[in-house]
Amino acid sequence: MTELVFRDDAYTRSCTARVVAVDERGIRLDRTVFYPTGGGQPGDSGVLRLADGSVVAIADTVKGSGDEVVHVPAAGAALPAPGAEVTAEIDWERRHRLMRMHTCLHLLCAVVPGAVTGGSVGDGRGRLDFDVPGASLDKEAISAGLNKLIAEGHAVAPRWIDDAELEAHPELVRTMSVKPPTGAGKVRLLEIAGVDLQPCGGTHVRNTAEIGPVEIGKIENKGRQNRRINVAFIA
Ligand SMILES: [Zn+2]
Repeated sequence: MTELVFRDDAYTRSCTARVVAVDERGIRLDRTVFYPTGGGQPGDSGVLRLADGSVVAIADTVKGSGDEVVHVPAAGAALPAPGAEVTAEIDWERRHRLMRMHTCLHLLCAVVPGAVTGGSVGDGRGRLDFDVPGASLDKEAISAGLNKLIAEGHAVAPRWIDDAELEAHPELVRTMSVKPPTGAGKVRLLEIAGVDLQPCGGTHVRNTAEIGPVEIGKIENKGRQNRRINVAFIA
């Protein structure tokens, strides 16, 4: 199991760690700040710095088994030896954009009525699919509602509840396509105070104001009850 530093504090940009294993999939560390692809959010890129000053470029991060995180080296990178001490450092500029967009998509859930059937967090843009039977969605109203919630500066924080509490409140699960992280009888929720509460294991900003202004792009029909809403940062 890898200690998931990003789960307690998404703002930690680097940490020291020890190489546990290296194989054809990639590099496993005993602890990491690298978020692995999951929950609609892409994996982090960055570098591992070794004691001798050499640097291993990390192109992507994926899940292994359980809470294990696999750091995928860039093609041709020299690999560290198991046991080596490294400093794991993410590409923070990119990660922060992903955190902003990820948090923005939580707000979009609160603005649009209907169950979320899929979604994707991209670098500078994102999208969510909603099950909205026959409804025509008002792009201007969604854009205004979303930017209002962003500008209001709501606090964003994770909290953990137990499985029984989640079972008692099934309405908390807005996103049907993404399974929340569970384990040891606990589920991680992401709470945007007074706005949205749902299971999520991703990385988020601390306050909605940090997202900055966004615009709604195309609203596409993807199947009979599926509306895809695209959103992007206003550069
Ligand atoms: Zn989230």
